[in-house]
Amino acid sequence: MVIRYGQQDINQGDIDAVISVLRSVNLTQGPTIQHFEDGVRAVTGARHAIAVNSATSALHIACLALDLGPGDWLWTTPNTFVASANCARYCGAQVDFVDIDPKTYNLSADALEAKLVEAGKAGKLPKVVVPVHLTGQPCDMAAIHALGQKFGFRIIEDASHAIGGSYNGEPIGNCRYSDITIFSFHPVKIITTAEGGMALTNDDALAVRLGLLRSHGITRDPELMTAAPDGPWSYEQVALGYNYRMTDMQAALGVSQLKRLTEFVARRHEIAARYGQLLSDLPITLPWQHPDSHSAYHLYVIRLQLDRIGTGRREVFEYMRDRDILVNLHYIPVHTQPYYRQFGFKEGDFPQAEQYYREAISIPMHPSLSEADQNFVVEVLREAIVA
Ligand SMILES: *Cc1c(COP(=O)(O)O)cnc(C)c1O
Repeated sequence: MVIRYGQQDINQGDIDAVISVLRSVNLTQGPTIQHFEDGVRAVTGARHAIAVNSATSALHIACLALDLGPGDWLWTTPNTFVASANCARYCGAQVDFVDIDPKTYNLSADALEAKLVEAGKAGKLPKVVVPVHLTGQPCDMAAIHALGQKFGFRIIEDASHAIGGSYNGEPIGNCRYSDITIFSFHPVKIITTAEGGMALTNDDALAVRLGLLRSHGITRDPELMTAAPDGPWSYEQVALGYNYRMTDMQAALGVSQLKRLTEFVARRHEIAARYGQLLSDLPITLPWQHPDSHSAYHLYVIRLQLDRIGTGRREVFEYMRDRDILVNLHYIPVHTQPYYRQFGFKEGDFPQAEQYYREAISIPMHPSLSEADQNFVVEVLREAIVA
């Protein structure tokens, strides 16, 4: 039996919810989209929620809504999925990175401040910064927000890993410290809609722009039109948007999954606590949790203390994969990808992210992981490390 690093947890209620949409009139552009958006607004406290077909689309329209374009810079962490950086390229903007905090593996607020001071002198300050809540643990958002006020950049939180987590006792996604927060509902994430994402904001004007960009830039709202409607059929295209819509089938799955959000995150914490006990004597660094944060625990990342073990990361990784434990690696530093090297990035640019990359392995973490599965993961990891 194969044990994956992450996977969906689908129950009969989820299946029934999707089927009921299939039997209804609206497979897309129906009422279930708003139900899902309302549900996510309720759990996060955000004022507006715009459901889209992926987090990648959400990042793209978030950048556009913030007027990111040619000549502008977006900064993010190198320790993320490529989508957090690619969104800037879609808009013709340039990307730069900020190294990570060695304890949380998130974008370091100290490194950000130092880089901002330099960029300020060179006249190359970013327009947008994208902090990523890696593994579901929030970044130091209060500090990043304060820097945003001081240096004049906007903030998109990439919370793809983090729905259900909290920061300083408040839900991630409430946008207290950002202009826009985005979620992903890919099957490995905390809740799923198969493919899907959402953009949240408290800003009414940004919400209107996000809504337009999701669907061709077309509106039927007379208040958003430039002229009085010709008739009841009227619509206007007032911006250049996309078809980034989520379907009602996906939204129904989302509504159903959202009911178990608290349960999913609690189960992830149970698994993490158990790993913490079972792995505490091994020469590995376990995920450190900031006292101000309650992680959604999308991932359980261990770091091998390579100077204390007689084997390499590749050997440990392959040993586990050979036993059908599908460990993974989050992430290859984005600046070392061939696409980003063309802009001059190279090894050595972000040493903390690169050091992390040499040592990290994501071991299985998802709500349907049984105790027996977890015991097997621990047993094999032990063998791999002494082997
Ligand atoms: C999964 C993920 C994305 C992209 O999500 P999609 O919904 O697959 O587009 C973006 N950023 C991070 C950090 C992710 O983990």
